[in-house]
Order: sequence, then C-alpha cells, then structure tokens
Amino acid sequence: MNSFSAVFEQYNWKDIQERIYSKRSIDVERALTANTRTIDDFMALVSPAAATYLEPMAQLSSQLTRQRFGKTIQMYVPLYLSNECNNICTYCGFSLGNTVKRKTLTPIEIMQEAAAIKSMGYDHVLLVTGEANHTVHMPYFKNALDLLRSHFAQLSMEVQPLYEAEYSELTEHGLHTVLVYQETYHKEDYKKHHPKGKKSNFLYRLETPDRLGRAGVHKIGLGVLIGLEDWRTDSFFTALHLQYLERTYWQTRYSISFPRLRPFSGGLQPKVEMSDRELVQLICAWRIFNQEVELSLSTRETPHFRDHVIPLGITSMSAGSKTNPGGYVVEPESLEQFEIADERSAAEMARAIKATGYEPVWKDWFGQ
Ligand code: SF4
Repeated sequence: MNSFSAVFEQYNWKDIQERIYSKRSIDVERALTANTRTIDDFMALVSPAAATYLEPMAQLSSQLTRQRFGKTIQMYVPLYLSNECNNICTYCGFSLGNTVKRKTLTPIEIMQEAAAIKSMGYDHVLLVTGEANHTVHMPYFKNALDLLRSHFAQLSMEVQPLYEAEYSELTEHGLHTVLVYQETYHKEDYKKHHPKGKKSNFLYRLETPDRLGRAGVHKIGLGVLIGLEDWRTDSFFTALHLQYLERTYWQTRYSISFPRLRPFSGGLQPKVEMSDRELVQLICAWRIFNQEVELSLSTRETPHFRDHVIPLGITSMSAGSKTNPGGYVVEPESLEQFEIADERSAAEMARAIKATGYEPVWKDWFGQ
C-alpha cells in the first residue's frame, strides 16, 4: 500500500539541512524565474540566501495568488469541542498532567457555541479536540457532525489521527477537511516533544494523510509547529510530503499552515526563533513553489503582521477565535490552548481585509 514513509526514509535531515544552507543567489534567481519549479527550487526559496530577495518574492507571490484565487480571503473559525487529552506534548496547554479544568461539550453546548459562531457570520467551522479516546471518539464525532452539518456549508476537523475506514464514515456525516500537522519531521526531536500517549507514534502520524487520501476526504491540511526545529528543513519535508500527496491523491485539495509556537502557562520556549521577515519569506516560498495549495494563517499572529500579509499569498484566515471548549458562550473564562495574538472580532477582521482591497468569503467556496 502507498505510503509517504517510504519516500521519507530516503532522506536524511542533516543532508537536507546542509543543502538548504549551501544555496546561493544564483539558485534563488533560478527559482524566481523558472517556468516550472522543483523541490530544489523550494529549498533555495526558504534558504538564508533568499532573505535579500524578499521584495521580488513578495511581488511574484502576490501576483500568482491573485491569478489563482482572486482577491479573496476565506474565513474560518475553530470550535473547540474538548480539551481532554491523554497525550503529553511539550508545547501544548492541554497536555496530560497540566492543571487545566477538563471539559467536553455536550450536544446542547455544541449547539450554543455553534449559534454564537453563526451569529459572527461564519459558514465554515473547524472542530478541534485533544486525544481522549474514552470520551471523544467516533460516536461523539458522528453526533457532532450530524448536529452541525445543516448549519454550516463546510465542517473541518482537527482531532486525533483515525483509521481510513473511520475517515470514510465521517465523510458520510458531512466531514469536508481534516488538518493533521506533523509538528516536526525531525524523528528524534519528535520523540522528545511527544513522550507519552498515542501521538508519540511518529510513523502513524506521518501516514495519516495517506489514510485521508484513500478515504476520499475532500481537503487535507499539513504543517509543522515552527519553533520546535529548524523551520527551513521542516518546511522542506512538508513540501516533500505535499508533492507526494498531490501525485498520489490528485483529486484531493491541500492547505498549508505555519503556526509559530505561542506561549501558554508554564510552556515551552521555542528552540528556533523565526522572525516576521522569515515568516513572510516562507509564505512567499510556498506560493511560488505551488500555485494550487491554500495557505492559512491563524490568530496566533499579530494584527499588524496579519494585515500586511493579506496580499502576499494567504488564502484563508481565522478571526474572533477562542481556543478553549465553550470559549464563545458556554465557559468563556476557561484556559485557552495557546494565547491568541490577534483578538479582533470577525467583523473587525473582515473590515481590515476589505481595507486592503480583498474580499472576505465566509465559506470555503473553492471546495464547492
Ligand atoms: S497538541 Fe493535541 S494531542 Fe498534544 S497535548 Fe495538545 S491537545 Fe493533546
């Protein structure tokens, strides 16, 4: 059976890192002017050598994005269903052992939160949970999707990795998109950051997009948590993963996110800091490398930064987000998974998008 792990095993982290850091201006210029771009060009675009090409990269990225997506930004918002979790992840406020009041929304609470989200204007919601198989399991997911499917145009999920047959079943209940971030492709460091629980199985997580592709899930979201490891090398492996998936499951759509590690109470400091300029470079590198992929930016980033990158390549944004179960109306004071940097409401964000000449779109209309 096809699996990305067979491709992944052919690459060595250190070799790739050395290749990225040895790229020169000539490689970046080739990547900027090429008619078709290879993964080697992506390496040049994320390399330190590309830092002085930020202006031409931004112009090209902006132009390519407008050609494919027009001047639109899709709006989505997370609905945290549960913060119960049996995993230890060093970077997460919901990690097992953290003193957080645990909560899983009841059906009535799900509908209360959904009503609040609808009143903000949203037609696309991302359902988020931790990994607690005794309470947040297939029957719970099916019920949540059944409750919400007639109220939203699209339902996305970011929950624990599931089996292929389970994903197939959930698509029948209205599941449209699944986000499954590898966090880091550095196998040894992955183990350090996931010492306990099912998430500690690197390979099972790595092969999740294959199970999603085979199950026919409409869209798959990939990404790494920036700050855990060298972001340039981790981005290369994400690009390799995307390239493999696009060739293998060509009917599926894909999106990429680039969350930077955010503080939470008592939390992990980033091993590798990424500056705002470097995040702009990464966004542009993705767009220049791949004109079809959707690029998503969450409220982890500041209002100033988000407003400035709207025209550069981003195609979807969240706003007015709460990262705690019940955060909209049921239990607004409970502890969040991570700190939000952009606290503007959905309406304020929509005005900011319009002010840059772009149009906020309240559902995933590319997926219609
Ligand atoms: S990142 Fe997800 S799996 Fe890990 S502790 Fe947080 S909620 Fe649980």
